Amino acid sequence: YEGKQQRSGVALYRDGSDEIHLRRLTLLADLPRAIERNQFDLHFQPKLELEHGRVVHAEALLRWTHPVLGAIGPDEFVPLAEHSGFIHAMTRHVLDRALLHNGLWREQDLDLGIAVNLSAMDLMDVDLVDFIDQALRRHAVPPGRLILELTESALMRDVDYAVRMLHRLRGVGVRLSIDDFGTGYSSLAQLKRLPVDELKIDKSFVMQLSEGSDDAVIVRSTIELGHNMGLSVIAEGVEDDRSLALLRRFNCDMVQGFLFSAPMPGEELLGWHARFVAAPREA
Ligand code: C2E
Ligand code: MG
Ligand code: MG
Ligand code: MG
Repeated sequence: YEGKQQRSGVALYRDGSDEIHLRRLTLLADLPRAIERNQFDLHFQPKLELEHGRVVHAEALLRWTHPVLGAIGPDEFVPLAEHSGFIHAMTRHVLDRALLHNGLWREQDLDLGIAVNLSAMDLMDVDLVDFIDQALRRHAVPPGRLILELTESALMRDVDYAVRMLHRLRGVGVRLSIDDFGTGYSSLAQLKRLPVDELKIDKSFVMQLSEGSDDAVIVRSTIELGHNMGLSVIAEGVEDDRSLALLRRFNCDMVQGFLFSAPMPGEELLGWHARFVAAPREA
């Protein structure tokens, strides 16, 4: 019996899965107190309109610094928050902070849209619509300036339900975006039913875009599809000039990516924007 335990222990150690398990347990236990312990930071990344080269929105992206494990990315902690049910408090926190920052920029005469990511589980939160309505009033942000980004795969889990929830959200006056488009296996019939304003092409198709590649064909036809459906199309993950030139040629409406800026703390956005307006590509 003892030998068996030991062997399995060794096996677990070798493939690192007990360490992964321990990390997961630690993060799960500590996540619920991240708000009160001030371990969350919201960063913001500009979304630019291609035609005039203007910044039109900023996307809020959440960061968690764990006291022992350090920086934890949202790709790791968002699934944990969904699993534990903490997601509802987390989303409210993000919405409140994002609108607070947006209100501060607005007071400084920078009128931007603010994009916030919602998870699939947020769609199940029946009180979220009222929360958003009140948060918009609290921070004096016009409803049309809030863009909610939902991933294509989140929307496809239960399309009938998603359609109903999106209509309720739209009733408040906010705008809706399909995030990570191209990775969620939606059919055109399903897509047609979603009351959305924006389609965001997943960065996996956009990074290192080159002429004549499969990705270029996908991106070009996705832009056409979006336009035919009356949607504004944005490409995320724009990292180099060659990709940007192609996106321009394909009539993409908006771009976002490291080429312009990585996500930055809210306090830095005003300064970054002033430098960007003065010298668009040197900010
Ligand atoms: P997303 O909404 O699709 O956000 C885009 C991700 O790509 C962000 O990663 C961003 O930092 C990164 N990115 C931006 N430009 C570039 C680029 O040029 N190249 C590359 N390689 N990456 C770029 P991040 O911040 O790690 O967020 C990952 C995902 O986590 C987000 O994907 C979103 O789905 C989720 N997420 C982030 N913040 C929140 C949040 O507050 N709530 C929820 N529910 N999900 C969030
Ligand atoms: Mg997003
Ligand atoms: Mg995305
Ligand atoms: Mg993503």
